[in-house]
Amino acid sequence: MNYKSGAILVLSGPSGAGKSSLLNEVINDIGECYFSISTTTRPMRQGEVEGVHYHFVDEEEFKKDIEQEQFLEYAFVHGNYYGTSLKPVKKALNDGKLVLFDIDVQGNTLVNNRLGDITTSVFISPPTLSELKKRLEARSTDEKEVIDRRVKMARKEIQRISEYDYMIINDNLAQAANTLRTIAKAARLKVPDSEINEFVQKWEDID
Ligand code: 5GP
Repeated sequence: MNYKSGAILVLSGPSGAGKSSLLNEVINDIGECYFSISTTTRPMRQGEVEGVHYHFVDEEEFKKDIEQEQFLEYAFVHGNYYGTSLKPVKKALNDGKLVLFDIDVQGNTLVNNRLGDITTSVFISPPTLSELKKRLEARSTDEKEVIDRRVKMARKEIQRISEYDYMIINDNLAQAANTLRTIAKAARLKVPDSEINEFVQKWEDID
């Protein structure tokens, strides 16, 4: 795949890491961007809106989309399917936008395999496991069993931080937001392989 001038910024981190608050904090300061709205089979949480937080579908519909190769990547997370639709991402990249993904560690691997040369990744973590538990309990939108599953997942995910370009510890929102703004700027400046090759060829011709 070869896209004109867009770039991808992957944000991963356990549920409860504060990814959404952090994104809301910076979204108006990082230039033209497109936040990819994932499709999921997870039940809608209180306060969530179809088409804003996710596209909520049943398993049958999700599997049909898999068959029709509609997804850039998809994964089974916490007992539900989550996937990134390819079409709007392609358009945003061709429009030169910074495309933001809130996806898990499996999704990060898949996106990097396909579009690694235009992808920058950042792992967002709460300062400690006990702080994560506190945040998930305070959110109280999930059953205890769901919270336990998310905590277990978080312990696994944290082991894979080294697969990311950057890490942000979301302890102080203002500080974390500043770091994310800087990373978003750098993500836009990442030079894809195609441009490097073109530059090298032209550069040699001039000589
Ligand atoms: P939640 O259910 O809390 O909204 O999300 C659970 C996990 O699924 C989070 O780690 C989130 O980043 C991940 N996730 C959300 N959308 C996608 C997606 O499209 N692809 C993948 N691989 N993970 C996703």
